[in-house]
Amino acid sequence: MKSVKHWINGALADGDPARTAELYNPATGEVSGHVALASAADVDAAVAAAVAAFPAWRDASLTKRAQVLFRFRELMYAHRDELAALISSEHGKVHSDALGEVARGLEVVEFACGIPHLLKGGYSEGVSTRVDSYSIRQPLGVVAGITPFNFPAMVPMWMYPIAIACGNAFVLKPSEKDPSASLLMARLWQEAGLPDGVFSVVQGDKVSVDRLLEHPDVRAVSFVGSTPIARYVYETGTAHGKRVQALGGAKNHMLVLPDADLDLVADSAVSAGFGSAGERCMAISVVLAVDPIGDELVQKIVERVEHLVVGPGDDPASQMGPLVTGPHRDKVASYLDLGVEEGAKLVVDGRETTVTGGGKASETAGFWLGPTVLDHVPAGSRTHTDEIFGPVLSIVRVSSYEEGLKVINDGLYGNGTAIFTNDGGAARRFQNEVEVGMIGINVPIPVPMAFYSFGGWKSSLFGDTHVHGTEGVHFYTRGKVVTSRWLDPSHGGVNLGFPTNG
Ligand code: NAD
Repeated sequence: MKSVKHWINGALADGDPARTAELYNPATGEVSGHVALASAADVDAAVAAAVAAFPAWRDASLTKRAQVLFRFRELMYAHRDELAALISSEHGKVHSDALGEVARGLEVVEFACGIPHLLKGGYSEGVSTRVDSYSIRQPLGVVAGITPFNFPAMVPMWMYPIAIACGNAFVLKPSEKDPSASLLMARLWQEAGLPDGVFSVVQGDKVSVDRLLEHPDVRAVSFVGSTPIARYVYETGTAHGKRVQALGGAKNHMLVLPDADLDLVADSAVSAGFGSAGERCMAISVVLAVDPIGDELVQKIVERVEHLVVGPGDDPASQMGPLVTGPHRDKVASYLDLGVEEGAKLVVDGRETTVTGGGKASETAGFWLGPTVLDHVPAGSRTHTDEIFGPVLSIVRVSSYEEGLKVINDGLYGNGTAIFTNDGGAARRFQNEVEVGMIGINVPIPVPMAFYSFGGWKSSLFGDTHVHGTEGVHFYTRGKVVTSRWLDPSHGGVNLGFPTNG
């Protein structure tokens, strides 16, 4: 049985022994260990270590910081298989998918290696007589990241490489469902030469989140998770004077115009709908099929879904693993009956899927549900609008581009979306008219590269700043403008007038 602890001031810490949570192997449903749940005092210890470490790290030269980041990048790359195996064992996703999230996270580390360039300010000579102006960006101090279960490596890596490169000290509160990756990352930071206290991990639940949101020494909070908690984190954190970016849930639509290549569409819908068992905030969960292609497209999707290999994450043949917990599997599965009650047609029932090494998904130990396809889902029904966050692909039939666009824009969320078409003019119109933060044109999961910023609109983001890219650098720094004047001997003496430029 493993026991997952905190990482405070460069060492493992037991913390308060009174509170722990169970960890599971989602493929078998068995308890695999326990994770510590931090008390407020444990959070205080991590923040105190960060406060103590901050001044020296802030004053470390940009080249020194970049060198630590380069070493961290190499160590993470060398340990990527170990990291992916830890993720699979607790999250359930297949090994190749876990490797993929590490690779995408590493792109942010690579971006942050360019911090000497990213923190360059501006300089204007001679803004007034013998007066120069220049801008600089400085770190905030101690910043916190609170992250979800579905990307235990990548989502923290959206945050901490940039926060640390900017000169902050970072406290990570990962999901209590798959916490082990955070400790490997902490160890590798230490090996890379990051001073103790600059990166700490507190494992935990609401108690630790609340303490981070209230702690007077935490200057900023980055959050990624579900919409109700994102809203709560944003409101509570800002009420305590913090800068907050809180990314929430999603329900992403793929709008398919009749001129699209339907084989490409079917491949893309199945990949984006069922990769990581649909537990991705950028998963495609609704296909909007514009008449008259619906029947043909559904047939192509079903043909592909029937060939998906569902099995344990550590089996190289598996394409899709189990869901993260039993309660989550049950919640996702409940939408199969609800969908039918609401008028949809269940064309592939994931409860009947055969799991490698087991039997039917619904009868196999572990948190299994196979890929499910619901056709003719009524627009506006709960099956259509709720974030299900599992392997359930809904097909909503629409009569036109305009109707499809309206369905998307009427939605609560605005994280990602995609249009599939061969008509460049329609695609261009879509990117202009759709109220969503990240758009794919014939790309089903349009996750921006590290040097752009990731984030949605509407209830998918609370706060103004998206993560990573230049918005990430801005989030983790404050601007200053310096106006300097070096006098020559003819400065003219006292002048009580308001400073104007001449
Ligand atoms: P979650 O909201 O349950 O948990 C996220 C974090 O909040 C965890 O660290 C958790 O411990 C903490 N938390 C949970 N309940 C809390 C409470 N009552 N008070 C304070 N803190 C609390 O989300 P999850 O189930 O771990 O992750 C899945 C969700 O994350 C989905 O909604 C998904 O769309 C979303 N997500 C969004 C993005 C994005 O970029 N927008 C990316 C990944 C995941």
